[in-house]
Amino acid sequence: MSNDSLINQFEAQLAENLASVWANIEQAAERAGRNYNEITLVAVSKTKPLELIKAAHTLGVTHFGENRVQEALSKIEDFHPQDVSWHMIGHVQSNKANRVARAFDCVHSVDSLHIAQALDRHAAERERRQPILLQVNIAGEASKEGMTPQETPALARQIAALPGLEIQGLMTIAPLVQNPEEVRPVFRALRAMRDRLRDELPDCSWQHLSMGMTDDYTVAIEEGATIVRIGRAIFGKRYKIQTPAS
Ligand SMILES: *Cc1c(COP(=O)(O)O)cnc(C)c1O
Repeated sequence: MSNDSLINQFEAQLAENLASVWANIEQAAERAGRNYNEITLVAVSKTKPLELIKAAHTLGVTHFGENRVQEALSKIEDFHPQDVSWHMIGHVQSNKANRVARAFDCVHSVDSLHIAQALDRHAAERERRQPILLQVNIAGEASKEGMTPQETPALARQIAALPGLEIQGLMTIAPLVQNPEEVRPVFRALRAMRDRLRDELPDCSWQHLSMGMTDDYTVAIEEGATIVRIGRAIFGKRYKIQTPAS
């Protein structure tokens, strides 16, 4: 099969996948008595080629998520129309904070004072404050990044004081489970934590809860997600690729 027809086939699949994700988001919002418009779909395009990102954009996707700085920067350099926002959803090393602050519209993965300070230093060089989310390891999995729930209030206070950053809410990655109902308490706990922080630090908007991925986004929406980060349900399965650590 020629490369072109292979891409056409991927695009037809992409349109079908997106239609179904959008319908599921709408139904979950309806079940929860929420407005569909308050939920942002971030299409997680890590490991996927720019052709598919552009095709998704043509189909109406305007938010894309990447987890590796190197890979993301080359995509962003090649594709940054006015209406597209790029979200950093992976761990940020402080030596890459400069490039991250310049390229991404929102960083979901701030989980230490050290990385917040590095982003703050570079954001200060620009006119806009850098929107960030605090990543919380609600379930306490050893393998996951994120602040512990115990340390989050104190860290949030320190990070909220940094002038170059704008905390917009919280992000979490739920554990992998068979039945998404099992992680409903994780989403509920993130929301409760957000509500407490909003009382304590009313100068931040705390408007966003970035939670929910391919296997659990409808449950996350029922529990209040305002941003869902969806990869496989849109772009299909990811294949392990060997890339240098970024
Ligand atoms: C890869 C990734 C996603 C998307 O995962 P899917 O299961 O493919 O939807 C969401 N959030 C983060 C932080 C990720 O690394």
